[in-house]
Amino acid sequence: MQQQAQPQMIAGNWKMNGSFAGLGDFAASVRAATTPAELLICPPFPLIGPLIEAFGGAVAVGAQDCGIERAGAHTGDVSPDLLAELGASHVILGHSERRTDHGETSVLVHRKTEAAIVAGLIPIVCVGETEAERDGGEAENVVRAQLAASLPKNFAEARGIVAYEPVWAIGTGRTPSNDDIASMHATIRTSLGRQLGEAGGSVRILYGGSVKPANAAEILAIQDVGGALVGGASLKASDLLAIAAASRSV
Ligand code: PEP
Repeated sequence: MQQQAQPQMIAGNWKMNGSFAGLGDFAASVRAATTPAELLICPPFPLIGPLIEAFGGAVAVGAQDCGIERAGAHTGDVSPDLLAELGASHVILGHSERRTDHGETSVLVHRKTEAAIVAGLIPIVCVGETEAERDGGEAENVVRAQLAASLPKNFAEARGIVAYEPVWAIGTGRTPSNDDIASMHATIRTSLGRQLGEAGGSVRILYGGSVKPANAAEILAIQDVGGALVGGASLKASDLLAIAAASRSV
């Protein structure tokens, strides 16, 4: 499988943070910067529209979740079509916090991924092992199983992205060794090839989990790291831009 060269992506996941106050200053700083990476910010739902407007098309904006269908009786869920209509380009799916807080399974993530693709959104599907799974030598099996159950066959054609996020590294300040990141990204690449064929080479694989300005350069230099999914450090424009400055354009 031929791996395709493309710019890295730095995707910010604001989680349940952010407010209308401060949005203008954040957007002004980020849109004024030139970075080697493609930038994407995924704020909470109510901020998607205002952020799209504040960026004026200079930076992509996405969602952190979407519903399993295009419309219907799903109280509290947000239709992927509505997100696309609003101007969102991407949607994060299967984040470990959703798997934990809302009991989301890979089967559900698969349904959401299909719905997002039909709506024209680019899905970012998150996978990753818990600390107990890593300690038990199961990390690669867990990730392979999540990929097998979560990704539809047309994932690569839909420009889908995978984010490898070890659960124990999210928001903890801890990161895997560079060798462990490289080895898991290689495992994911092999699985993508098995599942999606030649097209699996075009799928970006982001690393996520405690990426910050101090460690971004070494993580982004690892083989087959196609960018980063950044939580805490994406809330501050200067930190986000410092991470993006460490990225590669190809
Ligand atoms: C995340 O929420 O996807 C994440 C990687 O968080 P943090 O960067 O804060 O570890």
